[in-house]
Amino acid sequence: MRDPLLLTPGPLSTSLATKTAMLHDWGSWDNDFNMLTANVRQRLLALIDGQNTHTCIPLQGSGTFAVEAAVGTLMPRDGKLLCLVNGAYGKRIAQLTQIMGRRVTVCDFGETMPVNPAEVKKCLENDPDISHVAVVYCETSTGILNPLEQIAATVASAGKKLIIDAMSAFGALPVSSRNIAFDALIASGNKCLEGVPGMGFVLARIDALKQCAGQAHSLSLDLYDQWVYMERTGQWRYTPPTHVVAALSAALDQYDQQGGQTARLARYSDNCRYVIQELNKLGLRSFLAPEIQAPIIVTVHAPEHPNWQFSHFYQLTKAQGVLLYPGKLTSAETFRIGCIGVLGRAEMAMAVDAMARALHQMGIPVNAI
Ligand SMILES: *Cc1c(COP(=O)(O)O)cnc(C)c1O
Repeated sequence: MRDPLLLTPGPLSTSLATKTAMLHDWGSWDNDFNMLTANVRQRLLALIDGQNTHTCIPLQGSGTFAVEAAVGTLMPRDGKLLCLVNGAYGKRIAQLTQIMGRRVTVCDFGETMPVNPAEVKKCLENDPDISHVAVVYCETSTGILNPLEQIAATVASAGKKLIIDAMSAFGALPVSSRNIAFDALIASGNKCLEGVPGMGFVLARIDALKQCAGQAHSLSLDLYDQWVYMERTGQWRYTPPTHVVAALSAALDQYDQQGGQTARLARYSDNCRYVIQELNKLGLRSFLAPEIQAPIIVTVHAPEHPNWQFSHFYQLTKAQGVLLYPGKLTSAETFRIGCIGVLGRAEMAMAVDAMARALHQMGIPVNAI
């Protein structure tokens, strides 16, 4: 039986080669596994052109663990974080910072607008206590693309440090340490790199990281210790997600074979354009204006019809082998369609077909079936 298509922003559909890479057992102290870890770290670092300036620190757990580790380790205890928020993931950074007892302030842009660098500049001028700024590259709760390069320039010219949650964008949208200044960029293996869930990683500026001994609020989320230990021994502190690392290594092989970042961006962009265009034909509208839509996940307005119920729609599309994603907005009734994973035109067409049929089964008229 075939696995369902995951039209979700991670975990997502992975290739057979990536799945089969997990059919081995690895000793966590063994040199073979240490070499695998070292190789994956090097390749992730190369993706941001950071070989001479940055280091890659992988961390067990989901992406949020890595975000929490980055904020807790990179920010001094008496620092203050400005969170640029335009959705749930930006809010989450503010929340985890507050819970760990660091000072945090929020600049909120609502759910429908990208972060505005001019506003960021004002926020920074109004509060000289701010030491660090956190921003989400692609805000996955809607799919909004934030103007990272301008934001980074604004933060740098104010003399502040930037922490980037690039989770859902990394590997597809460009980001180079040569033109974007940051102290930490956080991502995970199970998004645009098309690996499996279980580890995140932080690409940190070495000069910044060196200042961070003893700064973390947590033992297991101390990136500095994880880094020092890994540099010294080649091993992870605490049990590594061996199979997940092996899967990411295989996923990176395929990433390179397929043409790297530009090829991935092209495929996801095509998925995104195609699904919006085909849903329009069914009478469904996407939530964001095209110029602020990242090619990662599409938020769609639910049909305005008394028969609409996402859970029913979900079950009907699932019965056709397609898993969709619920909306995450406070303001409007929506659902979401991921464009990432081992999906191309054929899979997106299947998904559109499944949605059209489900609407029909629900008695919701569509323009064309
Ligand atoms: C997926 C994602 C995360 C991490 O979520 P987890 O569920 O902890 O893996 C963080 N930020 C963004 C923008 C994401 O898309």
